[in-house]
Amino acid sequence: MRFEAVVVAAGSGTRAGPGGAKQWRAVAGKPAVRWSVEAFLAAGADEVVVVIAQDAADLAADALAGLPRWRAVAGGETRSQSVRNGLAALAGDDETVVLIHDAARPLLTGEAIGRLLAALESAPAAILALPLADTLKREGPGQAIVETPSRAGLWRAQTPQGFRLGALNAAFAAWPQGEEPTDEAMVVERAGGAVTLVPGDPALAKLTYVEDFAMAELLAGAARVTRIGQGYDAHRFGPGDRVILCGVEIAHSHALVGHSDADAGLHALTDAILGAIGEGDIGDHFPPTDPRWKGASSDRFLTHAVELVAARGGRVINVDVTLICEAPKIKPHRQAMRERLAEILGLDLAAVSVKATTTEGMGFTGRAEGLAAQAVAAVELPA
Ligand code: MG
Repeated sequence: MRFEAVVVAAGSGTRAGPGGAKQWRAVAGKPAVRWSVEAFLAAGADEVVVVIAQDAADLAADALAGLPRWRAVAGGETRSQSVRNGLAALAGDDETVVLIHDAARPLLTGEAIGRLLAALESAPAAILALPLADTLKREGPGQAIVETPSRAGLWRAQTPQGFRLGALNAAFAAWPQGEEPTDEAMVVERAGGAVTLVPGDPALAKLTYVEDFAMAELLAGAARVTRIGQGYDAHRFGPGDRVILCGVEIAHSHALVGHSDADAGLHALTDAILGAIGEGDIGDHFPPTDPRWKGASSDRFLTHAVELVAARGGRVINVDVTLICEAPKIKPHRQAMRERLAEILGLDLAAVSVKATTTEGMGFTGRAEGLAAQAVAAVELPA
């Protein structure tokens, strides 16, 4: 679904203690506002309008340096005026879906945006929110409890909140002068519009107090997933006097036949990493019909897979390769293979395993028609 986003970053955030307004402060090494803008861009936003204080243009340019499809708009006296300034700057028509988001909720995920957009396929308006889990208490004098209200049917509103641009503008036009809404859903509700609740994300908690930053750092660190991939490859023996396995040349009575250097170990490992990130297989990236890869050293295939992981902000955690052959003997070369793989992958030696086995004389490896390799790779990616 096409959509535009307004990220409200115009507040002064004095409750969050010293260090400047919270939206410009770093969470896990990245300005809070940048987390949300990146999430919207990654989810396919046509444009992200960032509403900022009058004097914050330099802060925004620094915090969002290098990102496409965003621009800054000056905010107003109140939050709702800032939102209206942001809406006025959007290029879309009345039917455009606009997601409005607080910059102080940095840990926005593609999944959360996706849930909201999915709801907006049928609902005219929808917001992320969480059902209340804690029991509610109302305080009286001396902090004594005077009431335990029912929490049945109560939710905590989060952002993003999603609307059709025309309907939201009309609702704002009908909003009473001098009153300040606490969110945009309230404006639409007051105008008689229906707004759907969509399950939000505890990690979207708003940065309000200084201690909230530590919690967000923890959650940001946790917001990564581990993926596993496996690969298999086999090559036939042919005339020659050496083979290359896991990037190491070994003298042998035969060579391995293949379009590239036929390094089955590196090919299986490359496929394992591509598998972990859902990027097809080695043949998709380096077609055997392409003359560029004739006789090519297979390190470049593995390097390419590692670069694809890095481009997603991920890293390879560990790899485990098993070579299956009667000959050559692998054991004398295992350490050199581990060191070569560790070098290509940029990993500690402890994270790189190379093992070998025979098939007890059975099958194509047993008959020494060729050899095979299996590999597993674990990859960590941003959630
Ligand atoms: Mg191969």
